[in-house]
Amino acid sequence: MTPLAKRIAALIASAGPMSVADYMALCLLDPTQGYYTTREPFGREGDFTTAPEISQMFGELVGVWVVSAWRAIGSPTAVTVAEIGPGRGTLMRDVLRTLQQLAPALSESAGFALVEASPRLAERQRGTLASAKADLSWHAGIDTLPARPLIVLGNEIFDALPFRQFVLTQAGWRERMIGLNEDGRLAFATGVATIEHARLPAKGAGALLGSVFEIAPARAALMQALAERISDHDGAGLFFDYGHTQAGFGDTFQAVRRHEPEHVLASPGEADLTSHVDFADLAGTAKAEGLSAQTTTQGDFLIAMGMLERAGRLGAALDAAGRERISGEVERLAGPTEMGQLFKVLGVARPGTPLAGFGTAGQ
Ligand code: SAH
Repeated sequence: MTPLAKRIAALIASAGPMSVADYMALCLLDPTQGYYTTREPFGREGDFTTAPEISQMFGELVGVWVVSAWRAIGSPTAVTVAEIGPGRGTLMRDVLRTLQQLAPALSESAGFALVEASPRLAERQRGTLASAKADLSWHAGIDTLPARPLIVLGNEIFDALPFRQFVLTQAGWRERMIGLNEDGRLAFATGVATIEHARLPAKGAGALLGSVFEIAPARAALMQALAERISDHDGAGLFFDYGHTQAGFGDTFQAVRRHEPEHVLASPGEADLTSHVDFADLAGTAKAEGLSAQTTTQGDFLIAMGMLERAGRLGAALDAAGRERISGEVERLAGPTEMGQLFKVLGVARPGTPLAGFGTAGQ
């Protein structure tokens, strides 16, 4: 058992079974033994690779989107460009470079806020952005962001926030908990809490025994707080994650370590834990705050933002091997069998603010 698994087992032995949400929060952000607080998760040597780490094109196209969103809200000079969960800081670095070229007035006047819960990763981001000529600030949460227009970005942040699971048992829907087996090891257990039927997808009545339904109050709370700011002070938000655009049943809890899946209870604190993001729920939360919300796939978004043209421009300056690399990056980010379909993009803004990259459907 990992050191954190032993601590969690001791907690369960004294306090009883733990929810998936509490388990995930401890595994990812425990101050001394959490995954994001102690490890270097990203890249080839890490556990997984994210879109900004695959290609500079990702951050450049997000930069183009930021410029367009800024113009769409009237080019305010007092504005915050924030990223939630910036990892190594790669996306922000590429966005800043793009803004300096396309909209110097924005890059010089905006405040750039990095919202990071892991002090170790915040330090990593300071290193990546050390030479950036911009007004940068770090925040442990969004409460300390200034009260003014906000353009906010997030890549693979919602999937890293805790969620809860409910299982359909003979006795009805019950929360899935983590308890201990006879050997004292972590094991799934059935809890006593249940879920209102109104929260279930419409076909809930016909669900089979053993079906799993997931909710994520922490994700909804973050979206609600961001949407409230945008509603009050103007702005826009852009969020990338893997997930579904219609709520449904299914166990999407997963652990990844060294680019391989493993059991979610196998090595607390040493593997990344995520689940699929319910984009319909996030969009609904933003709409409830009075915003408009649009969802598309990562592939369609990046192509609409001009990825093929950008790849052509980058490739023109390279040799055959360089061009091969660029087209491989396009395939990974936008190809339907790679990230293009599984990853979704959510754009939110006040109604009437046009957002680039979402076509005209669903506006
Ligand atoms: N956006 C980056 C990293 C994604 S991993 C990329 O695409 O490469 C998730 C990131 O969110 C990590 O930086 C992690 O430390 C951070 N994080 C997790 N929970 C958070 C929270 N509650 N608030 C802010 N950041 C959080």
